[in-house]
Amino acid sequence: MKTKFGMLANAAVMPILLYLAAPAIALSPGPPTLPVRGLYLGAPKSSEVPLVVSFIRDALPKEGVNTLVMEFDYRYQYTSHPEVVDSDALSTSDVKAIVAACHAANVRLIPLVNLLGHQSWAAQTFGLLRAHPEFDETPKKYPNNQGIYCRSYCPLNPDVHKVVFDLIDELAAVCEADAVHVGMDEVFILADPDCPRCGTRNRGELFAQEVRTLHDHLAETHREMWMWGDRLLDGSVTGVGEWEGSQNGTAWAINMVPRDIVICDWHYDSTPPTAAYFAVQGFRVVYAPWRKADVALAELDQMRSVRAHPDAVTAPRMLGMLQTTWGGASDFIKAYNGDRPVPAESAEAAATFRALFGSIRAMQASQSGGQ
Ligand SMILES: [Zn+2]
Repeated sequence: MKTKFGMLANAAVMPILLYLAAPAIALSPGPPTLPVRGLYLGAPKSSEVPLVVSFIRDALPKEGVNTLVMEFDYRYQYTSHPEVVDSDALSTSDVKAIVAACHAANVRLIPLVNLLGHQSWAAQTFGLLRAHPEFDETPKKYPNNQGIYCRSYCPLNPDVHKVVFDLIDELAAVCEADAVHVGMDEVFILADPDCPRCGTRNRGELFAQEVRTLHDHLAETHREMWMWGDRLLDGSVTGVGEWEGSQNGTAWAINMVPRDIVICDWHYDSTPPTAAYFAVQGFRVVYAPWRKADVALAELDQMRSVRAHPDAVTAPRMLGMLQTTWGGASDFIKAYNGDRPVPAESAEAAATFRALFGSIRAMQASQSGGQ
């Protein structure tokens, strides 16, 4: 408890506040329902759309999910830039079927397109840099993507945002979305020394500049920006390491980005008090677990603890939970439905999802007096 609340107020007065607050918390109806009860799915293949639509319509209302983050990247048949479309891309009618299911289920659909980093995976370079190699931060380096995690685009290329903005706008429009998740996680290639534009730039400043650029574009169309939080955490100071946090100089970008961004704070193996840190910094934040139910429930507990705090400023910024499902939408849904065989990670993610949302429903039932 000390760790959770120690970040939220002056340590000298906190024991008194906690003591005084305890009876009120126990007797009050409690804080309102978690505003975000979310699930992440990768965009399915076209042949899998009926399975996903049924899942959205039937399972999500039953579980209490009200937000679906769906990662499309370049697997939508963009008409503004057909050159970037990857294989297994969904048609407009495919996406509209998903949109209709979300409307029927009263679920907010937030499309995700990975920007800046994650422009390749293993040997495959994705649509943007395949079609526009001139946007690559490290053109002609790392043949076949050997020796790197993922490629990045150059945020200072003078033409890259014209394409990126078109993609954002088109994806948001087809999804009828009022928010877009721009990814921006695990960016390891940034300010490459061989880039003539970025080579001498500070990585924290450069990362913040790209965040602001994307944010400001979304703000022009009155859309909210969501992003993963890892590049804004110091992986050394927090102890979360170079994946869930940053050890390549981007963390101080947190001081230079707009506060109306929603941060998705992903932690899969432990539960550092980083969501509260983001909330104290002024961001709205969700925790994002994956395949370990005990971690997901610990994150929910932290979310609940801070939201129950009588601090009316910070507590409401703890928006809720976003269950991730790395491994493919159809495998996750099959696992959820009890079909086998499925990969172990999908089965574990489905079990975590059931445990997490069961706990959320129980929490909300207790808060509403069992109604
Ligand atoms: Zn560059």
